[in-house]
Amino acid sequence: MTAFNQNMLTIDTSKSITQKIHLEAFEKKQIEVYIKRDDLIHPVISGNKWRKLKYLIKHAQENHFNTLVSFGGAYSNHLPALALAAKLHHLKSVAFVRGNELNIESNEKLKFCHDCGMQMHFVDRNEYKDKPKLFNDNYNTAEFLFVDEGGKSIYALGGCAEIVEEIELDAQHILLPVGTGTTLAGVALGCNDLRPHAKIYGIVVLKGAEYLNDEVASLVPNLRNYELLHEYHQGGYAKTNAYLEEAIRNFYKDTQIKTEPIYSGKMIAAAYQMLEQGLFKAGEQVVLVHTGGIWLHTTDKKF
Ligand SMILES: *Cc1c(COP(=O)(O)O)cnc(C)c1O
Repeated sequence: MTAFNQNMLTIDTSKSITQKIHLEAFEKKQIEVYIKRDDLIHPVISGNKWRKLKYLIKHAQENHFNTLVSFGGAYSNHLPALALAAKLHHLKSVAFVRGNELNIESNEKLKFCHDCGMQMHFVDRNEYKDKPKLFNDNYNTAEFLFVDEGGKSIYALGGCAEIVEEIELDAQHILLPVGTGTTLAGVALGCNDLRPHAKIYGIVVLKGAEYLNDEVASLVPNLRNYELLHEYHQGGYAKTNAYLEEAIRNFYKDTQIKTEPIYSGKMIAAAYQMLEQGLFKAGEQVVLVHTGGIWLHTTDKKF
């Protein structure tokens, strides 16, 4: 794991290229595969988390909030992104972290947050459940902006829609991993304007998360160009299995692109399964959106 350094102080979406990759199983069926490299936006923070924060930061600045207050678990990808985004825009950041046994030294992500100047409160799991109460009891004045767990907000949609503008390709299928579904909603919105022939598939990484269908529908009520797929979670959130691990390793062998088992790897595994299930046809194009998140796994020997 790399220590906090100057390279970590830039976020650059122009690094997120769309590249064609060669996967034998797809080529055999004459299907082209491309990958949108949001994992390259920043050395440690997760690409889609930055997308989600871009217009939220603008909203904060325009409305004279000076501090972002948010929430997350010990391994959240959202908190490091928020801590850095706040620092780069001269805003302060505060986080309620789930788990009162933790501290800023507990892992690299929390250390990174601290190094960015984020103030952290470690709260027990019960207290953590009521986020509005934590916010209202401690930060209920005009300078503090509540930012939901995972960066979920209506401001996130515009930033995620920009992913579509950057994929200059009229692909029939776009795949991306889903946690809260905010990134999916933004990409679906972008496609509605720019890629009317595309179908967007959200690979849900949680088990039994059918409630997400309603949550995404509430963000983009009029769209029919997307679908949440609930059968590719490989056991549930942060769970792995032999199929998933093999898919990640094979994908790396063929492309030299790293993915991880929580989000991007599940999308890769799902892509192979969808191919086997005959969901893509000869002559079609598939775009995989690599949302990043490889931070903790770059040194994992298994991959
Ligand atoms: C948070 C995260 C997601 C999920 O994004 P949502 O907008 O919450 O669905 C996907 N991939 C990575 C790498 C993430 O960190």
